[in-house]
Amino acid sequence: MNKDNVELICNIGELSDLFREKSDIRGFLHKVVRTVSLHMKADVCSIYLYDEFIDRLILEATEGLNPALIGKLILSIGEGLVGTSLKELRPILEKQGSDNPHFMPVPGSNEDRYEAFLAVPIVQGLSRIGVLVLQHSRPGFFNRNDMMALKAIASQLATTLENAKLLMGVNKKPVEAKGRMELSVIRGRPIVEGVGIGSVYVLEEQHTARPFYRDECTRLGFDDFQAALQQTAEQLQELQAEMEERLSDVASLIFSTHLLMLQDTSFIGYIEDEIEKGKSPCQAVIERVEYFVKLFSQSGNPRIMEKVQDIRDLGHRILRNLARENQVAGDYSDQIVIARELLPSELVKITAQHVEGFVLYSQGASAHISILAKSLGVPMMFTEDKSLFSLETDTPVILDGIQGNLLISPGEDTVKEFLSLKEGASRLEGELDSVKTETRTADGERVHLYATINILSDISTALKVKAEGIGLYRSEFPFLIRNSFPSEEEQYLVYKKIFDRMPSEIITLRTLDIGGDKILSYMPDQEEDNPFLGLRAIRFLLKNKKIFVSQLKAMLRAGQGRSFRIMFPLISSVDDFLESKRMVEKSREFLMRDGFECKTMPELGVMVELPSAVAMADALAEEADFISIGSNDLVQYLLGVDRTNEKVSGLYEARHPAVLRSINSVAKAAEQANCPLSLCGNMTSDKGMLHFLLGIGIRNFSLTPTLIPEVQDYINTLSAEAAGKNARHVLSLKTLKCVDDYMKGFLDSQP
Ligand code: PEP
Ligand code: MG
Repeated sequence: MNKDNVELICNIGELSDLFREKSDIRGFLHKVVRTVSLHMKADVCSIYLYDEFIDRLILEATEGLNPALIGKLILSIGEGLVGTSLKELRPILEKQGSDNPHFMPVPGSNEDRYEAFLAVPIVQGLSRIGVLVLQHSRPGFFNRNDMMALKAIASQLATTLENAKLLMGVNKKPVEAKGRMELSVIRGRPIVEGVGIGSVYVLEEQHTARPFYRDECTRLGFDDFQAALQQTAEQLQELQAEMEERLSDVASLIFSTHLLMLQDTSFIGYIEDEIEKGKSPCQAVIERVEYFVKLFSQSGNPRIMEKVQDIRDLGHRILRNLARENQVAGDYSDQIVIARELLPSELVKITAQHVEGFVLYSQGASAHISILAKSLGVPMMFTEDKSLFSLETDTPVILDGIQGNLLISPGEDTVKEFLSLKEGASRLEGELDSVKTETRTADGERVHLYATINILSDISTALKVKAEGIGLYRSEFPFLIRNSFPSEEEQYLVYKKIFDRMPSEIITLRTLDIGGDKILSYMPDQEEDNPFLGLRAIRFLLKNKKIFVSQLKAMLRAGQGRSFRIMFPLISSVDDFLESKRMVEKSREFLMRDGFECKTMPELGVMVELPSAVAMADALAEEADFISIGSNDLVQYLLGVDRTNEKVSGLYEARHPAVLRSINSVAKAAEQANCPLSLCGNMTSDKGMLHFLLGIGIRNFSLTPTLIPEVQDYINTLSAEAAGKNARHVLSLKTLKCVDDYMKGFLDSQP
């Protein structure tokens, strides 16, 4: 330990004595961080204290970071390097913090300027007190001696800080913790990249308390209400027409309930009567909306209960038009919607009304909501943090869908920073068309990149990025958004548009994959104890043959004269597949009996998503025209980890050796049987995995179209031969840690 550090420890000792006498806590903490930063020549020194009631670390003092974050920057245990240090109760010394996978600079803190990083946990006996952190702009600035010194300082400080915590009211009771809602960041999981800037709108809340509705609106009368009504009807009709044009597959007649309610005397007529009796228009609307919300909620019929949000949505629009908050649209412009639960149809409706973004409580959110939101391109994050619901409507916020943060009451500079990020993102969109028509590895191996399509509007992005076709069309969205089964004709019109818009030879339609977390509200008795192990996907269709046949007929009709493929999800046996093939044959016979020509037959494929299908891959490959590995589900079912359960998300590991070996065995089986193989799902967004998949010989991938440019760039840089060698080595590894380390090695060594 050098002399400086010994002196520093003595100084801290003196400071602690001083504190005992004076108890100016903030002043004391500030002196500590100043003294330590001076002695250690650090650019930044910060103290985070642990609040056990809210189970979070709170920045309580800093020299070097933005002081506005004091008391407001709140981290979960295990979050970022600081949270990891406390979680694992170990010092973290990094030459370059950004090299550590836990590194996560806090927006608005300027942390990304500082490379060298040193954190030590502060503990007193068995209790966690906090974390002491140093940062410096020069990489490698701190060494092991500094770490020893900081540990000594931390232990010197522990008792004093424990007292300080009590005095400062850290460890508030849970009720008080709610009052902490001036906290500036709510952390979550980024779902759809993008930035939303605006104010909070809490979806399930009553908005009676807003000043305009309570006060100014009392000056408005019957004529103002009529004007707002007229405006509402015009806006909705326009919106409906725009939706038919842009999102016909999922948004057809989506505002029909709204338009009907506008004609309804028990709704509008009643409000008019109340206004004539002297009530303010806003009050009358709010009361009537709440009356219907209650009525619909109590009905017990899921189809009627779905209308709850329609009536709220209509109320929102009329009120905004009354307040003239948004002259043009009366919609969700400038609003970030916060919700406990959200149905796919609500997601589409609110997105269509120009919302800035969504923050959803994880337990009410499902995988298909995130898939749909991605296709709609609306920024979204999920969070487990219930304090989200302490936020009041109209609170200014920024949704950072890149990091998964909701910044509360951001300062002007932060808003500017995010505005430019937002503009940058839309500029980038225009650059998507720099992609090449063919994808090759550096040593010339041809790779095919196909688009995964969720809704029709994805096709225009797929065309922009020169996708070679459609590797997966998830056909469930038109089913999920409607409130009854779409007819064969309606489905046919959707599928026909796919063929009309995508000129490629490879168009892969997947039959309905519902069940699991994708529940149709209009289908009775869908409750299951373990829905992911229940009547999902092909199992549902084989039990509901009428629905299966109507979808197959619609697909067969739409594909006539084109080459196309149909694949079946969640196949668990050769029997499942043969039965599905028979259903295609039957559907064709029905069509011909009804006088339709059905000369073109599709290729029929199996999705390998279950361990049983992996085990039977050789037999399936002999029967099928092609195989598509559904990597999202394969990981879920192989590892027994629910892909929608946040609590086990850390166990959902695509790089698990069992996953790697299973995919390899499917690839081998397909090769042996000469059966074309592709892979879909999110796996390709991990470069280490993509490298491995190319290494074991997979050459066809279906992915979200916006990822194609980046994936193509990456493939261009790598040699298929080297990837082959790396993959062989990876397959010999037994632990996830070894796989991670090895993949890091080959990713780092690439240009
Ligand atoms: C998959 O499981 O990888 C897949 C593509 O299907 P989905 O994500 O729709 O279940
Ligand atoms: Mg799947």
